[in-house]
Amino acid sequence: MLKKACKKIFAAILIMAMICGIFPNLGDSQEQVKASSIPKYVVVLDAGHDASHAGAQNRSNGYREEVLTYKIASYCKQELEKHDGVKVYMVRDSYSCPFGGGSVKSTECNSKRVEFSKNVKADLYISFHLNSSGPSARGVSVYYPNMNYKSEIGRNGEVLAKDIIKRLKALGIPQQGRGTLIRNSENNTRYPDGSLADYLAVIKGNKYNNIPAVLIEHCFISNASDCEQFLSSEEKLRTLGVADANGIMDYLGLNNLKQASDGNWYFYKNGSVDYSYTGLALYSGNWWYVKNGKIDFNANTLAYFKGNWWYVRNGRADFNATTLAYYNKIWWYVKDGQVDFNANTLAYYNNNWWYVRNGQVDFNANTLAYYNNKWWYVRNGQVDFNANTLGYYNNKWWYVRNGAVDFSFDGIARYGSGDWYVHNGVVDFNYNGLYRVSNLTQSMSDGQTVTFDGWYSFVNGKVDKHYSDFIYDGKEWKPVTNENVSSTYNGFAENGENNWFVINGNVKSDFTGLVTDKDNITRYVENGKASNITGVKELSCQEYNLTTGNTQEVNGTYHFTNGCLDRTYTGIVEEKNILTYWENGQLNKDINKLVKYKNELYYFENGKCDKTFKGVVQDDTGSWYINNGKVDYSFSGMALCNKNKWWYCIKNGKLDSSVNRLEYMYGRWWYVHNGVIDFQENTLVQNNKGWWYVNNGMVDFSFNGISKTDHGEWYIKNGNVDFNYSGMALCTSDQNYNGKTYFHKDWWYCIKNGSFDARADRLEYLYGRWWYVHNGVIDFQENTLVQNNMGWWYVNNGMVDFNYNGNFKYKNWTYAIKNGHVEF
Ligand SMILES: [Zn+2]
Ligand SMILES: [Zn+2]
Repeated sequence: MLKKACKKIFAAILIMAMICGIFPNLGDSQEQVKASSIPKYVVVLDAGHDASHAGAQNRSNGYREEVLTYKIASYCKQELEKHDGVKVYMVRDSYSCPFGGGSVKSTECNSKRVEFSKNVKADLYISFHLNSSGPSARGVSVYYPNMNYKSEIGRNGEVLAKDIIKRLKALGIPQQGRGTLIRNSENNTRYPDGSLADYLAVIKGNKYNNIPAVLIEHCFISNASDCEQFLSSEEKLRTLGVADANGIMDYLGLNNLKQASDGNWYFYKNGSVDYSYTGLALYSGNWWYVKNGKIDFNANTLAYFKGNWWYVRNGRADFNATTLAYYNKIWWYVKDGQVDFNANTLAYYNNNWWYVRNGQVDFNANTLAYYNNKWWYVRNGQVDFNANTLGYYNNKWWYVRNGAVDFSFDGIARYGSGDWYVHNGVVDFNYNGLYRVSNLTQSMSDGQTVTFDGWYSFVNGKVDKHYSDFIYDGKEWKPVTNENVSSTYNGFAENGENNWFVINGNVKSDFTGLVTDKDNITRYVENGKASNITGVKELSCQEYNLTTGNTQEVNGTYHFTNGCLDRTYTGIVEEKNILTYWENGQLNKDINKLVKYKNELYYFENGKCDKTFKGVVQDDTGSWYINNGKVDYSFSGMALCNKNKWWYCIKNGKLDSSVNRLEYMYGRWWYVHNGVIDFQENTLVQNNKGWWYVNNGMVDFSFNGISKTDHGEWYIKNGNVDFNYSGMALCTSDQNYNGKTYFHKDWWYCIKNGSFDARADRLEYLYGRWWYVHNGVIDFQENTLVQNNMGWWYVNNGMVDFNYNGNFKYKNWTYAIKNGHVEF
């Protein structure tokens, strides 16, 4: 088999084989192996010509070249396929043209045949033909590529041609001419290197694709003897095809193993054992490992063959093997009998699982590896099933239990210099707080066992403190007994810096509200952490009672001291601009007074003092001017009370109730009475300009009429008491005093020196008439007799009736009246 030309194909195998030796049980061909994974030679058989591109024909017997070449090639295929080591492709599968038929030229048909060969990655190309010439020419000849360009293709082709012609000549076919020959271009066609090209299109075309091709002219279709001896029956045609197949297998080295009389199997070449050959060789469906010309049935190695490295066990390639194989100081990953250089996996071998990276075991690997739905801990290239540790992978630290990442693990893991908080199998470096475990054990690599038990405080995921022996009962740390070391602990737990609200052994980080413990201490808890606020907080939240386990809604304002609800706090709390007044833990909303605080008097209303308040307020001690929430002793002047809208006269911060005067303000004169402008006040007030009429607290300069006040009954002119007036005056509005109307609107009253003269009793001339003024007022109901210095006069409806003539009865006497005058 291995001719010189073959060495090219097998060069790599040989080198390999010298280094190693391999072999396993490839033997029985019943094993289910992916066909593509078994090494095979690809042989393309080109039955020359076709129905559309006909070859030579013999008119006397009707033989046609394209028919006979198809039959010979088909028989050759049948023979070759008896061997697992060969994959055969026919350029055409029928008599017809596979590449377009009559519509294409034969040269294009040949180009397509070459292209087909390239596409199936042929190792060899055999073109089947029959010669034709004058009737006497006969015999076999085989063309092979010249040595001009890609000379190794030419050398391989020459070996192939000689292997084939040897088998054909053995059938008795005479050699035509030189037998094997080169045919160069006859029109000076050149290869890219300038050398003369091959003449035959399929030989030239395949050479471009690095495929050695030969063209067999089996015999002469034009010669009667050749036809009769070699072409005249199916059996004769089959014999030709088998001879071609054997020549091909000789070339490929597939016919080279034979058992010698000593019982050993040897690799033959040219009829004798080739002791220089080391590599794979096919026999009876198995690929065997040949070492120095002899099958080595003990070989266990890797062997290079047709581009891959194959696993050899007990002398035979094992295409089912998935394992590790040691070769050239490296452990290789073998899958389906060949080294998988792309494999990144875990591989089981020798009772261990190994970490394979790019097809080889990486003994330096310390990582996590995914395999069979788990992540495994790899230590020095090997899965460590005893590992209980943390494994670094993908920028995180993972919790490994018995060699595999435990994604459900919540707890503590010791690694390096620390003990770490693990949540869902990964270290949480953001965790700060408490975490409780009960008898959690971890087997360390040194054989020791670590036990975690109790409360642990974490800072950035690392244990900061351990409270395994004590438990916080909400008041103090106490020794733990077996009963209360459990996941049922409810209460507060402290970690040095913080106090945590724990329910069933876990910090209740979703809770914000009040928590009352068994000692009736109530804390404000925010996100599970006890607050340490001191001051006031308005809350609308839940209150959890640790004694009862009950929860209730709370709404209110609470005072805290160091995070604890202060049920006894009495005093003032200052927050921002608000002061609040607390008594026994309650905001006392009944406080409405001045309260001394920080040496100042602050005004509290409903228990609160707004330090931005300004204005006049009243408490039991008086009325005060407040600025910035407190009494402003520096202020003197008028100030408004926003509540009752009165103005107060303030002196050094306090109402000066001794003030009684008219005060000019906002363009008007106001009556300040006992320090306050009383807008209900209607009175007369005296100043150095006289007495003034005050209506609703303000001097009314528009007032004209009579007024009744505490100061008497006076005639007012333009708001001022007119002491010079004497005469009648019209009352312009009802004048009430102490709930009684003293002067009536539209009545006329008698004034004397500005004051109402209630004793006036006379006839008074006014507006052209004489009126009867009785007790100071004109009485329009009055019908009587009135005397003046002119006599007695008849008064009808308050007025002297000068038109009256008749009698009038007065005090039991009847008088005669003439023109209103009594005629005595
Ligand atoms: Zn064709
Ligand atoms: Zn031909």
